Amino acid sequence: MAKASVLNGLMRGFIGRCPNCGKGRLLHRYLKVVSPCAACGHDNAQYPSDDAPPYFTILIIGHVVIAPLVVFPIIWEQPVGLILAIAMPTVMALTLLLLPRVKGAVIGVQWAIRQNDGDAPLGVTEADWAPQPLPASDPQA
Ligand SMILES: [Zn+2]
Repeated sequence: MAKASVLNGLMRGFIGRCPNCGKGRLLHRYLKVVSPCAACGHDNAQYPSDDAPPYFTILIIGHVVIAPLVVFPIIWEQPVGLILAIAMPTVMALTLLLLPRVKGAVIGVQWAIRQNDGDAPLGVTEADWAPQPLPASDPQA
């Protein structure tokens, strides 16, 4: 088995490979997780990436495309139609290109830190989530 480092999982996921073996495909049909992995049989569907991939994709696109629109005056001096004609397709193309890669990277990091327990925060085991008995009520309180 591969060493479960965050960088290893992140890089394997980013290039669309299973974080566990680095050989099998991680996603098919754009964003569907392949599980179990065809190469090693690892259950990659156990990592709930949820809203993290779109969040990080928006964060990256915002810094790469939107920030220059706000910072550089030479861009402000151009006609708005021209800027929109360039910026909108660029944002759309980069978003569609990055989203599956970022999803793979998120799943790779989750694989490395073993975050596969649904809603449980990191470092909390299922036993910690077990319902505790209610304290006995004191009728004189
Ligand atoms: Zn695999």
